[in-house]
Amino acid sequence: MDKLRNDGDILWKAVMEQVEERLNNARAYEIWLKPVKMREINGRTVQLEIPGMTFEKGFTPYIDIIKEAFRKTAGWLPEIKIYYTGVDNRGYKAPPVAGEDELPLNTEYIFDNFVVGPKNQLAHAATQAAAQSPGIAYNPLFLYGGFGLGKTHLMQSIVHFVKERGEQKILYLPADVYLTEFIQSIKNKTGHLFRQKFRKLDFLLIDDIHFIAGKESTQEEFFHTFNFLYDQRKQIILSSDKPPKEISFLEKRLISRFEWGLLVEVLPPDFETRVAILKKKCDIKKIVLKDDIIDFIADNVKDNVRILEGVLNRIFALSTLLNQEIDKKVVEEIVDGEYYKKRVIITLENVMSAVCEYFKIPEEDIIKRTRVKNILVPRQIAMFLGREMTNNSLHSIAMKFGGKDHTTVLYACKKIYGLYNNDQYIKGVIDEIRSRLER
Ligand code: ADP
Ligand code: MG
Repeated sequence: MDKLRNDGDILWKAVMEQVEERLNNARAYEIWLKPVKMREINGRTVQLEIPGMTFEKGFTPYIDIIKEAFRKTAGWLPEIKIYYTGVDNRGYKAPPVAGEDELPLNTEYIFDNFVVGPKNQLAHAATQAAAQSPGIAYNPLFLYGGFGLGKTHLMQSIVHFVKERGEQKILYLPADVYLTEFIQSIKNKTGHLFRQKFRKLDFLLIDDIHFIAGKESTQEEFFHTFNFLYDQRKQIILSSDKPPKEISFLEKRLISRFEWGLLVEVLPPDFETRVAILKKKCDIKKIVLKDDIIDFIADNVKDNVRILEGVLNRIFALSTLLNQEIDKKVVEEIVDGEYYKKRVIITLENVMSAVCEYFKIPEEDIIKRTRVKNILVPRQIAMFLGREMTNNSLHSIAMKFGGKDHTTVLYACKKIYGLYNNDQYIKGVIDEIRSRLER
């Protein structure tokens, strides 16, 4: 795939082919050897690059196989030196990473447009305090709560506020963008630049941080960045759909750091706040709606401001584009339509087929009551992920898997959870299936 640069590369490729053959375990090779890069061969010293410390634990047992493969292929035993990606030892020339201000922010997400009510006033006050006295008030500031309740709005408000005021360096990134940029930097060998970019900030805001949970090397990288900024008393602000403790597959050391500062929950707005939000949005969009219609919407759309806005947008479209009269009946239809709009969700069926895909087993096999060993673990993984990633109860999962007892499912979940934390192979498998499902 990659162009071979020199003799070292050719030798390395031959060595890895040897390793793959010796190992005779495609899965282990994929997880523990594929990510390893050869930086340089100098005499008999071989510099290898691996993603990080956590990876190293799983990788170390394979070093002897690599050495042996060198002996067989090149006729000499190497001295292996390990480096982590991004920790540079000899100044790679690397393409620059993307600029800091690239990601466009929503210009409407400012403090002035945020309606404060009893359910979000703490979050509002805390974000303002963090914007005004970075690193002093609450560090880190961790906002959590359901979808569409204003977390992103508040975070971007901080960015606008700080940028208007002057010189401080601030960066807002959704966690999935952080992850993508990080992986990109590993590919481009610009890990050190990626790291530098974060370490010179006064404010770092990562939205939907739960996204990096289960992503081993990204968590590792973020852990070090967090520590660096925290030690310099720079302001860190994070958001998530759940409090740190409840985020599945989030590393313990990250959970504990996220809890060092202030945790604030953002709750669905009460009726008065919903009315005020609707009025504010009408002002911004320059629509006039009668009070009884506003009340009707506020009464019926309760737990999500984004849907509240969706309803307004539909009304706006109808009233301007179609020149249609906005009466109660129209609004009723719109509310119904928006509210029951399906969201993309992961189903038990999705999970089952992803697991079967991965293990290359027919789907009916994991449903059947066979006790064949090679089906057992995939089945338990499917149950575990079904519980983890869907809203199904233990009972409904049990029914889906051929009418088993729900304690069977509970047992499977506990067992796989234990393995996830202690068995690198299982962890690798689960992380891979999870990421395929989330794609
Ligand atoms: P989250 O990040 O919590 O999922 P967002 O910040 O994306 O939610 O908010 C969804 C939408 O609702 C945004 O358009 C935002 O402007 C709006 N919104 C949420 N809460 C408020 C509020 N208190 N006042 C005004 N608009 C709000
Ligand atoms: Mg958000």
